[in-house]
Amino acid sequence: MRKNVLDNALKIIDENRFNAESEAKNNKLKALENEDFKKLYNQYVDLIIKNAQGENNEKNIENLKIKLENVQKKLNLGSIEPNYSCKLCNDTGFVNGKYCKCLTKEINNILVAESGFGHLEDFAKTNFKLNSNPEYMKKLYKLMKDWCHSNFEKNLIYIAGQTGVGKTHLLKCMAKELIDLNKVVFLTTSFAMNQDFLKSYSCKDLDEKDYILQKYLNAEILFIDDLGTELRQPGITVNYLYLIINERKMNKRPTIISSNLTLADINDYYDERVFSRITDLSSSICVYIEGDDLRLKK
Ligand SMILES: [Zn+2]
Repeated sequence: MRKNVLDNALKIIDENRFNAESEAKNNKLKALENEDFKKLYNQYVDLIIKNAQGENNEKNIENLKIKLENVQKKLNLGSIEPNYSCKLCNDTGFVNGKYCKCLTKEINNILVAESGFGHLEDFAKTNFKLNSNPEYMKKLYKLMKDWCHSNFEKNLIYIAGQTGVGKTHLLKCMAKELIDLNKVVFLTTSFAMNQDFLKSYSCKDLDEKDYILQKYLNAEILFIDDLGTELRQPGITVNYLYLIINERKMNKRPTIISSNLTLADINDYYDERVFSRITDLSSSICVYIEGDDLRLKK
C-alpha cells in the first residue's frame, strides 16, 4: 500500500474516532450537571477502579451501568459511550493487526477516485438486453463473478473484445465485487501505466525509479484497462509490461487486463514473452467478448 494512500485513509478513520469520542465526552459533561447522574457516575467509576484492583464487582458494575443508562435516557442527551462508525474496530482501522473492512473501504474509495474510472458497476444490476448474445454474456459474467470469489489460482484474467462491447463495464463490476470482499483494488489504464513506465525509465534516482512501479507490482489486485491503446515506446513499453505481468504472476497477485487485441495480436504487438505469460492457461483465464459497439446501440 502506498504510504500517502494509507495515511489519507487512516486520517478519515481517525477523524471518525475523534468525532465519536468527542460527542460522548460532551454528552457526559452535560449529563454530569445532573446531580442524580453525577452521584451514580461517581459510584460507577469507584467500582471500576476497585475492580481493577482485584475486587470482583462485575455484577454491581453491570447494575449501576443499567441505572446510569436509565437516568441518561431521561436526560435525553445521547450516549456517554462513543458511537463508533465501525463496531468491528472502534474506528481504529485495524483488527488483530490487519486492515479492518472500514479501512479497506476508505483505501478503495481513494484508489477508485484516483483512477478516474468514475463510479463502479454492479453484477446484480447488469442487464444484457443490448448484447447480441445475451446468454453468452450472462455465462461470462457469472464466470467472472465466480472468479472474484475464488482463491485466485488463476491469477491473470485477459478480456478481449472490440471497442464498446462492454469490457470496462465488466471490469467495474469485478472491481466492486472484490471491494465488497474486502480486497484492495487498483484500477488503471494501459495509457496511464505506460506514462509511468516512461517516467520510471527516464528517472535518474534509483529509489524513485522503483517507487513509480511499486503501485503496479504491489497492488493486491491490479486492473489494466485497454491494453494496446498506450503510446508504445520501442524497448520500454514491452520490457516494463513484461516485468509487471511476470512479477505479479510469480508473486501470485491477481491481474485483470482488458484489450482490443486478440491473443494472436499480442504476439505481434508486444512480444513472445508477454504473449506466453498472458496465455499460460495453467494460471490464466482468457475470454473474448463478441458483439457490436453497445455505445452506438444506446
Ligand atoms: Zn473498522
